[in-house]
Amino acid sequence: MNHNLYAHFSAQFAHDLAKPCLILADGRAWTYGDIDHASAKMANLLLALGLLPGDRVAVQVEKSPEALVLYLASLRAGMVFLPLNPAYQVREVEYFLNDAQPGLFVCRPQFHEDAMFLAAQSGVPHTLVLNEHGRGSLVDLAALQSDHFNTIERAADDLAAILYTSGTTGRSKGAMLSHHNLLSNARTLCAHWQFTPQDVLLHMLPIFHIHGLFVACNCTLLTGSAMLFEPRFEVQRALAALPQATVFMGVPTYYTRLLSEGVFAAESARTIRLFVSGSAPLLAETFTAFEQRTGQRILERYGMTEGGMFTSNPYAGERRCGSVGPALPGVSLRVVDDDGKACANGTPGHIQVQGPNIFRGYWRMPEKTAEEFTTDGFFRTGDIGHVDAAGYLFISGRARDLIISGGLNVYPKEIEDVIDRMPGVIESAVIGVPHADFGEAVTAVVVREHSLEGGALSEVGIIAAVREQLAAFKVPKRVILVTELPRNAMGKVQKNVLRDAYMA
Ligand code: AMP
Repeated sequence: MNHNLYAHFSAQFAHDLAKPCLILADGRAWTYGDIDHASAKMANLLLALGLLPGDRVAVQVEKSPEALVLYLASLRAGMVFLPLNPAYQVREVEYFLNDAQPGLFVCRPQFHEDAMFLAAQSGVPHTLVLNEHGRGSLVDLAALQSDHFNTIERAADDLAAILYTSGTTGRSKGAMLSHHNLLSNARTLCAHWQFTPQDVLLHMLPIFHIHGLFVACNCTLLTGSAMLFEPRFEVQRALAALPQATVFMGVPTYYTRLLSEGVFAAESARTIRLFVSGSAPLLAETFTAFEQRTGQRILERYGMTEGGMFTSNPYAGERRCGSVGPALPGVSLRVVDDDGKACANGTPGHIQVQGPNIFRGYWRMPEKTAEEFTTDGFFRTGDIGHVDAAGYLFISGRARDLIISGGLNVYPKEIEDVIDRMPGVIESAVIGVPHADFGEAVTAVVVREHSLEGGALSEVGIIAAVREQLAAFKVPKRVILVTELPRNAMGKVQKNVLRDAYMA
């Protein structure tokens, strides 16, 4: 049996190749037949370039149908898809290329010069270009290939993708996901959320992240349904497109933006049978306001790069405000104390999960992988939460001080490292403070030296310097200059004290 995820997609859609898969903002459609042919051409190109099954295909491009086709081509050819956020800067991309050693790097045209330099340095044999309109050398070369391709046989545990997450240590880790990891999670979600071939998903999420790529696209492809495939979230586009859709998936920010539009009401949401939220906590006030406005309860779910979705509120049963729902079928979830003993219902502790969707480990980091699993095979999520008597999970915080701003993860250590290297800085602590629009706003608390250089530091200057080195979503919204950081008896900076102090 071929465990290749694409073989499972095509088993579903093959009988109706004329059916639309992607519907674009300008009304053009990509049928399943179009997708199948285009991914065959690209898969043939990957082999023609000399890539072998198991090789990584690193991709840092804007969202487009062709970018999605590249993901499918990579699956079909048995390669390992490695999407990167387009916001990453040269220094960040350099690390990913060096670490993953891909056989091909596909980038945006404006990055091509840097990409060629980095590729030469890190021994990446090929770089190709894809722009936001789906054009570039990738597509030009694929056009010369045959549109017939026999999807390569893969075993269940063979890798389908590597998605980089970050750690508080500052070093990004590549989460290795197998074909079976992705298939099992998509199957579970399709059944749990009652996806049918008649569904039309309004897709406004980025596709370099599990939420937009694996949750949204894999569910669509596995049921042979359709997506209104938009380049990004824009509230006016969402209002215009919602009446053509049946399912919407978003990060909490999308919901607060919809609610900020006075015209958004029950009528705007009439055709939608399911609103899903995740990637960051949905505020109770958003959940309640949304229900008052539309009569619908947003379904909140919880998961992470290392395994897709772990829990979900029920489709048919009660969706509880503030909860991410019970464990999904097939997923075992437990909450334990610092000693690994099960917590009583209602008592917060470390969230651990096990299931067929849990990743195969961190790329070339066996020690790190071993650390993140318990001896009985549960994955330590690093999140803190509690379960109620009915098995609903409530997340209270992130053990690792991860900041989630606009649905994107920001790892404080990475920003602290950049600030700490600036002349005149003694140390810094980066925290997230509640923000009505972004969920959390990145805030840096910085201790200066008593020197000329220290005296010359300013909020504006520090923000500008970080912006030169890191993606815009990581740049602090505020910098607060202080004389010292609060510490506990063990010498650890007390970020909770800082958060409380700067909440307002
Ligand atoms: P990522 O790997 O980028 O998907 O980030 C995973 C992290 O996002 C999780 O470990 C949680 O801390 C957080 N997260 C995801 N979904 C939710 C949710 N519904 N509520 C609260 N936190 C969430």
